[in-house]
Amino acid sequence: MSDGRALAREFLEQQRLLGGNPVILPGGPTPGLRPGSVGAQDTAGLTPGTPGSRPGSVGAPDIPPGLSYDPPGSDLFSNDPVPQAPSLATIAQLVANCTKCRLCEARRHAVPGEGAADARLVVVGEGPGRVEDETGRPFVGRAGELLTKILAAIELPRERVFICNVVKCRPPENRVPQYDEIAACVPYLFRQIELVKPAVILAMGGTAAQTLLNTKQSLGALRNQVHRLRGTPVIVTYHPAALLRNPNWKKPTWDDVRIARRFIG
Ligand code: SF4
Repeated sequence: MSDGRALAREFLEQQRLLGGNPVILPGGPTPGLRPGSVGAQDTAGLTPGTPGSRPGSVGAPDIPPGLSYDPPGSDLFSNDPVPQAPSLATIAQLVANCTKCRLCEARRHAVPGEGAADARLVVVGEGPGRVEDETGRPFVGRAGELLTKILAAIELPRERVFICNVVKCRPPENRVPQYDEIAACVPYLFRQIELVKPAVILAMGGTAAQTLLNTKQSLGALRNQVHRLRGTPVIVTYHPAALLRNPNWKKPTWDDVRIARRFIG
């Protein structure tokens, strides 16, 4: 089984055990996080995480009673081309035609992600916003400009990074993606990471962090540590959109980004 396929299966199984909802309100603990899972942490030499709130959260979406583990019609694990997709271009094609969840209904453009296929850094956000939906590109607009500046500060031109989101289509009114939407979309993300094979992943915002690390811990608790996703370091930090709302988070973000930089070489 490919790593991306295994990760997608692991993610779904973990979320089922946790109650099917990967998104939490600020400060919540992590019941049932398995030691040694994709969320296992490597904290050597780093200070403990600081409790705090998850910026940009609109709140935890409820799982409708009776929502199935695999959404009806899902073919995540049978005849699914995603885990076998040979290239990022193939993933982009699949995403462009994807109707696996309700987010396809109002999208103008799906936003698969963009950047270097051999990037040392993969940046993962939550989902496309208005400008991303209009352009089909991730992290554009003011938040995207800020991300470009953050990358420049660690001497990484944006073109050398692969940038994508957990969900590839814009949630209405920029709400937090719901459990079944993330579950339907996450195989694309895991296959992208598997293809790029980055030296480090930067998870920007709570949804990206919780999805990649398969946990319900708050962003504040996950920051300032080195996590591992199948051996690849994962650094958690604030989403640039949150920094625009709260400039006080710029300093901690800079600290996180510098941790990520150490793995890029
Ligand atoms: Fe497909 Fe993901 Fe878009 Fe849903 S959000 S329609 S799973 S590409």
